[in-house]
Amino acid sequence: MQRRSLLPLLLAPLAAGALPRPLLAQTQAPAAATTPLPVVASFSILGDLAAQVGGSRIAVRTLVGPDGDAHTYQPRPSDAAAIREARLVLRNGLNFEPWLDRLIRSAGTKAQVVTAAEGVATRRMTGEDGHGHDSTDPHAWQNIANARIYLRNIAAALAAADPEGAETYRANASSADSRLAALDEWVRAQVATVPAERRIVITSHDAFGYFGAAYGITFEAPQGMSTESEPSAAQVAALIRQVRARHVTAVFVENMTNPATLDRLAKDAGVTVRGELFSDALSRPGEGAETYEAMMRHNVGLLVPAMRGG
Ligand code: ZN
Repeated sequence: MQRRSLLPLLLAPLAAGALPRPLLAQTQAPAAATTPLPVVASFSILGDLAAQVGGSRIAVRTLVGPDGDAHTYQPRPSDAAAIREARLVLRNGLNFEPWLDRLIRSAGTKAQVVTAAEGVATRRMTGEDGHGHDSTDPHAWQNIANARIYLRNIAAALAAADPEGAETYRANASSADSRLAALDEWVRAQVATVPAERRIVITSHDAFGYFGAAYGITFEAPQGMSTESEPSAAQVAALIRQVRARHVTAVFVENMTNPATLDRLAKDAGVTVRGELFSDALSRPGEGAETYEAMMRHNVGLLVPAMRGG
């Protein structure tokens, strides 16, 4: 990104000295077009997918950063400023970012607002929510097939905002898509090593429904699909019974939720928390889940041995 933005600065004095004025105006036009397109992504996973597609043509600003919780995020004034200056705002949609619509309205931006999850087959919660909320599960990116739809939507949105970059975005999205296709195969091969009756996992909040449906794993969580809701004592007790009855060994906390409930649940059920899964946010640099691909590899690398019980 830096090389791209420095180049016009280096060339400009040369052009100014060497060319008559009308030509100079023409040579400056492409230089202006290489200023990175300002793009806002609502959360870190979407920010990474956007960066994969946009490469050095875009400058991505992520609102909810590493280890952040987009369900309960409190926007800052600098977020409104970023949205005001953006040409494109990318959101997950499916009610994942309940604070974002108001923020966009108050920012008064001319940016296109694009829903990355547009076109995915949505999963609905089966009954237990009980809060009268929209019970569409927002965590669609946890199925790699859906992340590939996100890539397509991002590429189309970037091409619309920056038509000159359309070919670059298409090519970047295509190579990212090939990597995700390979990742999907790898996840299937990994999960296939776990006997079907061992494929049950307990996590803090219900963020892995799409992952479970795609790869044949049952996920249970004391907390619902949003971290806003508090688990009831009855839900926790029911999970403890299930852990004991089915000898569940795969119990995890998530990077962006409070581990207290799961720590207590594990203690009461006599099992060990096997580590931290990344569900709604990437990790900080150096912690092994800085990109979507790294996140999926990290999660599967923990899940598979934990389900086997080794
Ligand atoms: Zn979530």
